[in-house]
Amino acid sequence: MSAPTPPESGPLDSLSQGPHDPERDPRATYALEPSYAATLTRRVVASSGRGAEVFSPLTGQPLAHIPQSTVADVAEAYARARRAQESWARTPLAERAAVLLRLHDLVLDRQEDILDLIVWESGKARKHAFDEPLHIALTARYYGRTAGRHLDARRVLGVVPGLTRVEVNRVPKGVVGIISPWNYPFTMALCDGIPALLAGNAVVAKPDAQTMLSALYGAQLLEEAGLPVDLWQVVAGPGPELGPAIIEGADHVCFTGSTATGRIIARECAERLIGCSLELGGKNPILILRDADIEKAAEGAVRASFSNAGQLCVSMERMFVADQIYDRFVERFVARTEAMILGATLQWGNDMGSLISEQQLDTVVGHVEDAVAKGARVLTGGRARPDLGPFFFEPTILEGVTPDMTCFGDETFGPVIALYRFHDEGEAVARANDGEYGLNASIYSQDGPRARALASRISCGTVNINEAFSATFASVDSPMGGMRQSGIGRRQGSEGIHRYTESQSVATQRLIRFAPMLGMSDRMYGKMMTANLRLMKKLGRP
Ligand code: NAD
Repeated sequence: MSAPTPPESGPLDSLSQGPHDPERDPRATYALEPSYAATLTRRVVASSGRGAEVFSPLTGQPLAHIPQSTVADVAEAYARARRAQESWARTPLAERAAVLLRLHDLVLDRQEDILDLIVWESGKARKHAFDEPLHIALTARYYGRTAGRHLDARRVLGVVPGLTRVEVNRVPKGVVGIISPWNYPFTMALCDGIPALLAGNAVVAKPDAQTMLSALYGAQLLEEAGLPVDLWQVVAGPGPELGPAIIEGADHVCFTGSTATGRIIARECAERLIGCSLELGGKNPILILRDADIEKAAEGAVRASFSNAGQLCVSMERMFVADQIYDRFVERFVARTEAMILGATLQWGNDMGSLISEQQLDTVVGHVEDAVAKGARVLTGGRARPDLGPFFFEPTILEGVTPDMTCFGDETFGPVIALYRFHDEGEAVARANDGEYGLNASIYSQDGPRARALASRISCGTVNINEAFSATFASVDSPMGGMRQSGIGRRQGSEGIHRYTESQSVATQRLIRFAPMLGMSDRMYGKMMTANLRLMKKLGRP
């Protein structure tokens, strides 16, 4: 079944029509209407005439033809963005914020179309796709409503009370380059750009080559929300080919992806002395303490481990369970995992969808086969499911994983969790902190203060208590990002917008000057200033 053909009344009208057809047959296979895909891909800055086919992981069938950008196209995208940014930076903050609040409404109104595109491109279950418009709505509302709190000029203490007035301005950096991954193709393409725009910047975005359509739909919605069109440029192509040009043109780079690529980006940004924020990989631990509610923990553990088929930077791959409840908990966790519904459809109702590609499937199969060959036990799952779709793999629980196995310390980025028993909580914290990553952790316990005390000892940028990752990720007033090899900088909250600004201090001096006055000698000046410093300390001034 195909999506309805968009009317010929113009691209925006076509998009508002969208591909969603509520009457469709849930068992049918789908193909994206070519003119609909063309409406989206017209936004790519691409002059070469080259194109690349993308395929849907649901069926392995071609989905759309994406025009490919050259290095010269990236430079052109920056030139357009830079011209547009000059007037955008002078646009009143309230007007910029209003664009975000309109984006919020559009994302909620068009969610069915957004979900269709995400599922088509990524193969994930619809309920996991839903997290994406949800996150964008939260982010757009938050920054739209708190713009002044983050960006208004701020008065700070002047050196001479009453005579030195100092304001700190937040000045946009200019044009931000955003390189985003395929796993959350709509929200990862948009969420970091929202604060960049609000702060007065333009964006050149390079979404992952596998998931351009969701990212392009986001760009289209920004335009419909009233964003001047040249402020958000989209280029398409392989990361290693376009990456250097993205960094070359940018005033700040925001990257989400693997730690290996993050290192390359950091090196190139350092060479140009520009800032970068890096959201990288993880090998996230979940701790089930002896006083956890077993049923709630087992339910949470399923979401923690298998959301988006484990292709989620903040999902869990290592589970440490207290000895006292290990057997009872594992029995419930395995039972809940075995009850999951796997499927390759656009409809709601699946608990897990496909992996995105053959490459991801190969990695997951490789990790599980290596672990089993070296003695790990499969409690459930452990098999690819070509009967469901080309890249399906069952949710898998392993026991007996040891340091010589690849999945002990390497990120699998798939639906595979290793269970470990612990005897005391200090030991569990030490094992959770083992390894190079420090992105996200989770603790299940009915004792909030004890769990929070343990959280402060875990070296991760976020810790969720009685939830896997959503509590911190959706609390967009709080910073989110990684310690150690999991990243540099934070998205969300004040830190998530201040990274796109330069602080500029403006001081206005009255009546006195910072030099000897009224015939005073340099020596006298020194004495007077010394007395002044002592007085200020006595008066308690910071
Ligand atoms: P990846 O690093 O291969 O690709 C991510 C993006 O970088 C893509 O757009 C890709 O085209 C681009 N890229 C690749 N090589 C590049 C280069 N040399 N220069 C510039 N750009 C380049 O990552 P992936 O394997 O596709 O994504 C999965 C990884 O991303 C996992 O490790 C996961 O943990 C991480 N991730 C982290 C977060 C987070 O918020 N911390 C979120 C999602 C994914």
